[in-house]
Amino acid sequence: MIKVVKFGGSSVASATQFKKVKNIIESDKDRVFIVTSACGKSGDEDYKVTDLLYLCHAHIKYGVPYDDLFNMIYDKYMGIKKQLNLKIDLEKEFKIIRDLMGKDIGLDYLVSRGEYLTAKCLAEYINGQFIDASEVIAFNYNGKVNFEKSEQNLISKIKNGRRVVIPGFYGALPNGVIKVMSRGGSDISGSILANIVNADVYENWTDVSGLLIADPRIVKNPKTINYITYSELRELSYMGANVLHDEAIFPVSEKNIPINIRNTNKPEHPGTMILGDCSSQDAVDPPHFITGISGKKNFSVITINKPQISSEVGGLRKTLQVFEDFNISIESVPVGVDSFSVVVETEAIEKVVYEIIARLKKDLDCDNVTVLDKMALIAVVGRSMKNKPGMSGLLFGELGAHNINIRIINQAADEIDIIIGVENKDFEKTIRCIYDKFITRSDSL
Ligand code: ASP
Repeated sequence: MIKVVKFGGSSVASATQFKKVKNIIESDKDRVFIVTSACGKSGDEDYKVTDLLYLCHAHIKYGVPYDDLFNMIYDKYMGIKKQLNLKIDLEKEFKIIRDLMGKDIGLDYLVSRGEYLTAKCLAEYINGQFIDASEVIAFNYNGKVNFEKSEQNLISKIKNGRRVVIPGFYGALPNGVIKVMSRGGSDISGSILANIVNADVYENWTDVSGLLIADPRIVKNPKTINYITYSELRELSYMGANVLHDEAIFPVSEKNIPINIRNTNKPEHPGTMILGDCSSQDAVDPPHFITGISGKKNFSVITINKPQISSEVGGLRKTLQVFEDFNISIESVPVGVDSFSVVVETEAIEKVVYEIIARLKKDLDCDNVTVLDKMALIAVVGRSMKNKPGMSGLLFGELGAHNINIRIINQAADEIDIIIGVENKDFEKTIRCIYDKFITRSDSL
């Protein structure tokens, strides 16, 4: 078995965390490919190394002294080295970075140093082989990963018999220049690696024991999701659940490699398994009707009212064209007989809302365009809802019984989720109600 294991910033935030990581790695001989984030926050007073590196670069750009910031990073790594008795020549590593900072250091190179240094320390600590991500993860100039090249790179670097430690978050362009991914990108690095080594599982170690059915800031002690499909996770993440980087699913789902979200601070907890298909697990352990609930506040609903608009050929296209011209992404388009509504994030239209209204009125030849703000969207996601008549009835009935007015309803034909829109003020109450009905009182269903 081959396991790719990725440790997030909080898992490598201090020497104590490094010790936990070492135990986790050494307790399973299959954990051979290790990817690490940069050291994260070890407490409220602490800082993420990547944040400090971004700040350093901003200081350089504006000609402001950055020594204090740089020293914070230096001290953090020196502390870890000392406590773990490492031999790594950090003085030399920091001198290389500092010298370049006085010249023309690239942003991507500088911010990638957190992962680079963390992986170097970890490799020595677990007696593994360090391989630089810039020598493995190959980007094309269009920013896409070249999987074939990355695989060849890795094969040419591996020496037999030792675990391999690779920094997350970055790779290199064909000319060797370092390129970083978006924030949280080490999740993607782990997933790319799992793809190229055909891993049996991609373990993603973080500081929570997997995905929770609902946001713990809203629902008290929500249960963990044991199994979830890639597509369910996509729906939940899109609406705000963020345990894993959005883009991390694709490299593994392409090869049907399971992702296991685990907690470095509670390694005995099995966490959440993310799979292409959960049917064999479901046969043994039937899941709740609802796998998870997530949501976001602050949407606006723009409604175009015009008699018989739905039978006007091209009406919907003209409406959508206006939003496209303003480069605004649309969440949902509820359609009525005499009206279309377009749901968008309020932030996206704030600066251009009057121009949009004017264009809609003109292009659709209609006077009645209204905007409703302070709306929240909630995704109720569950593979078990499929082909179960009465599910939406139960959901709407429950919300009605609690006096919650549903303003928008959206369900795609794959029936994997129902999206409802409520007013911002009802957001938390709605999520609690759904959790209570479908999880806490699920026996009564
Ligand atoms: N260190 C990077 C960040 O903070 C990447 C990562 O941790 O995944 O965004």
